[in-house]
Amino acid sequence: MNFLIVFVLCLLSLVVYSQWILIFEPLEFNKNLFGLTYITIFHLDVILLLYSYYKAIVTNPGHPPVEWLPDGKSKEDLNKLVDHYKLNPTLTTRNSNKYYQQQISITGQSPQQQKEHRFCSVCSHFKPHRTYHCRYCNKCILKQDHHCPWIDNCTGFRNQKSFILFLLYTVILGVLASTLLAITGFYILNTNMDLKENKYKRTSSGGGTGEITYRIGDPYVTILYILNFAFIIPSLMGVFGLFYYQLDFLFHNYTSIERFERKSETKVAKRNNLKYHWRYDRGWKKNFREVFGESRLGWFLPIGTPKIDGLTWVTVRLEDLSDQSSDDDDNRGLLGGGSSSGRGDVFNV
Ligand SMILES: [Zn+2]
Ligand SMILES: [Zn+2]
Repeated sequence: MNFLIVFVLCLLSLVVYSQWILIFEPLEFNKNLFGLTYITIFHLDVILLLYSYYKAIVTNPGHPPVEWLPDGKSKEDLNKLVDHYKLNPTLTTRNSNKYYQQQISITGQSPQQQKEHRFCSVCSHFKPHRTYHCRYCNKCILKQDHHCPWIDNCTGFRNQKSFILFLLYTVILGVLASTLLAITGFYILNTNMDLKENKYKRTSSGGGTGEITYRIGDPYVTILYILNFAFIIPSLMGVFGLFYYQLDFLFHNYTSIERFERKSETKVAKRNNLKYHWRYDRGWKKNFREVFGESRLGWFLPIGTPKIDGLTWVTVRLEDLSDQSSDDDDNRGLLGGGSSSGRGDVFNV
């Protein structure tokens, strides 16, 4: 098993263990309704986190079939390219300039057209839109977002939902753990210490004087607190940044890789005083359902597979957006994806 996966599992175990040692047991959470509810929610979150993590690791993100042919390409075109790269093994798709020049010389097509029908010389097949070759997985990945060492897998077309759910439940765990540790820490600071007994008595809990069954002066407990506040909780909260980006990708239907393309297209559109619409952005609801499915209950579970095939993608033109249909001049934009766009030549990638 990958070292980082073991690390994540150890971290999670430590978080759960800390909550029991520092909170649940000493404050007797198992003896009141609030405590029991909290324990249930906390462990439900941990189970969902582990399940999503497992699914993100084991789910195949999706690879294009070797025989897949884009529109306008024939089996002959594919064989031509396969043979060419067999004869020229030093040429790879990573050497993009040389690669495009070579493809033009083979098929006689312009660079723009070649970009539409990219070919992977390593996997020997055409690449659908949004597909990229991962050098770690050594395969082409449908709708590749990035290769994530924490799951030892690419996040892509089929495991994007599991990955986002894993981040979501990690963020929830971070919030739950840190909030309760902070409250408990504050509570403990307001107790009186009996050094001789080496125990802490509750004097601030509505008149009760019952002893807390662990000792704040115990180095073991102190180390657990320090570990939690200095290391574990910041790590969990650090996931929040990644989660935020993934939500933006999800609701606007782009990936880490497409981020740069979208950004540069937006810049050029601004410079030319044109409206811009990212070609795969179908509106946040449709974008969300494309990845998370239709079932509301299923949204919270890392189950199900996308209904689309990941090989062909619906592209949206600015004119297609229902709320912008009145003024033709205003609707002239930089439209990606569609081959018939009048103003989109520059961005017809
Ligand atoms: Zn490939
Ligand atoms: Zn990968």
